[in-house]
Amino acid sequence: MIDARTGKKEMATPQTLKDVTRIVEDGLCIGCGLCASLSGGKLDMKISPLGYLRPYTKSELSHELVDLVYDVCPGLRQDTLPEHLIEPDTDIDPVWGPIRGMYSAHAGDETTRIKAASGGVLSGLSKFLLETGKVNYILHMRTADTDATHGIAHVSRTVADVDVGSGSIYGPGAPLDTFLKHLDAGEPFAFIGKPCDVSAVRNYATRDPRVDQLVKYILTPVCGGIVPPAMMDKFLQNKGFTRESLTKFKYRGDGCPGDVEYTDTKGRSGSAIMYEPYGGIQESDWQLPFRCKICPDGPGEGADIAAGDQWVDDVPDWEFAKIDKGTNAVLVRTKAGEQLWKDAAAAGYINIEQTITPRFYDTCQHHHVVKKMYTRARWNGLAEAGALEPRSNGLRLDAYFEKNSNEVNRAQTEGTIARLPGGRETL
Ligand SMILES: Cc1cc2nc3c(=O)[nH]c(=O)nc-3n(C[C@H](O)[C@H](O)[C@H](O)COP(=O)(O)OP(=O)(O)OC[C@H]3O[C@@H](n4cnc5c(N)ncnc54)[C@H](O)[C@@H]3O)c2cc1C
Ligand code: SF4
Ligand code: SF4
Repeated sequence: MIDARTGKKEMATPQTLKDVTRIVEDGLCIGCGLCASLSGGKLDMKISPLGYLRPYTKSELSHELVDLVYDVCPGLRQDTLPEHLIEPDTDIDPVWGPIRGMYSAHAGDETTRIKAASGGVLSGLSKFLLETGKVNYILHMRTADTDATHGIAHVSRTVADVDVGSGSIYGPGAPLDTFLKHLDAGEPFAFIGKPCDVSAVRNYATRDPRVDQLVKYILTPVCGGIVPPAMMDKFLQNKGFTRESLTKFKYRGDGCPGDVEYTDTKGRSGSAIMYEPYGGIQESDWQLPFRCKICPDGPGEGADIAAGDQWVDDVPDWEFAKIDKGTNAVLVRTKAGEQLWKDAAAAGYINIEQTITPRFYDTCQHHHVVKKMYTRARWNGLAEAGALEPRSNGLRLDAYFEKNSNEVNRAQTEGTIARLPGGRETL
């Protein structure tokens, strides 16, 4: 079958094998919630046995709905920016994708900067968009009421609302489970979500023109992956806490990165270093969900602006972290993002420290460079193991595959085949 969007051979599974559960079973679901939103109540996002948010089928799905989900699900498709948003003079970096400018920066307002995850750039831009009336609201994420380690979709219409959502949530959350309702409401808004959530929005834009009409700006955190729920349970258990008894869980913030902080119903509290829930301080200790290990787009190529951390050699200087107010590395990708960036800086919502280069950012994000190099080989492992294989356009995965040695590619493919049983999920 030929993919109508790219003209290339379609990689995903033939029609007869399609059902939404299969995406979960093959370890490809991210839990964004888009399919549930599109299903008119036939799919429900619920916690799976492994602790992830996954779509559960409540009643029979039509072929049309399943086809639609297979076309727009970010577990099955992640592309770079759509062609019409890439200006002729935009640089396409092999690792970081479309770039019109790269900066070290932080929120202009000190309180926003310090409270936020890194330097408060995403919150600062959100506040600028609201206070200048460029959008009516921001659709993003805040801590869930039901589980303090989870996120839930959050609508911000005021700067105080933005503060409620500021900070990073490294746990499950489905920011798009009400996405269709936002389009039906017909108000202009901005969306902030992880790169995979952004892919879902861009994918759905090819099927519904209201996305481009109403979603005025798309912002994203650079993303290396969430904490697997089993790792979170282990972390809490080691600290003598349980997930059920938590009244607060903060992954980071109040300085950069700030501590993990948690309290429970008995009023007990604790703190930890940011990476402990992932499994340890060193990059080699981090545990990730299977889907995040085969993610093709941590840098968030589909967004107008992406913002990440800026720590040389991937982790903070822990001594400086004690006093660090926070800095983001920022990747401005589109014309709309560039205008927003300039206007927000001119109005004092963003404070630009300096320009940076892609090769400098490689030194801060070694794990993203490596993932980009190996994704195609890892996806080949999915195909060889008989799992669904995602499609991708413009992320330069094939170019890296061709540059790698055969031995390296084969090792990555076999590694994925070996890990896939652990990635497969049941509902
Ligand atoms: C799961 C995850 C993994 C990450 N991995 C990396 C990495 O490998 N390297 C790196 O440099 N940076 C990573 N980041 C980005 C980093 O943690 C900051 O989010 C980023 O630098 C933006 O900081 P800020 O101060 O501008 O954000 P803030 O001003 O604090 O705003 C953060 C915004 O993101 C939204 N948000 C937070 N969590 C989620 C979520 N789970 N899903 C959807 N929206 C969310 C919030 O609602 C808020 O609008 C990751 C972020 C996440 C959520
Ligand atoms: S990734 Fe999103 S759209 Fe795809 S199956 Fe999971 S929840 Fe549904
Ligand atoms: S690593 Fe990729 S798949 Fe995992 S949460 Fe981040 S953007 Fe989504």
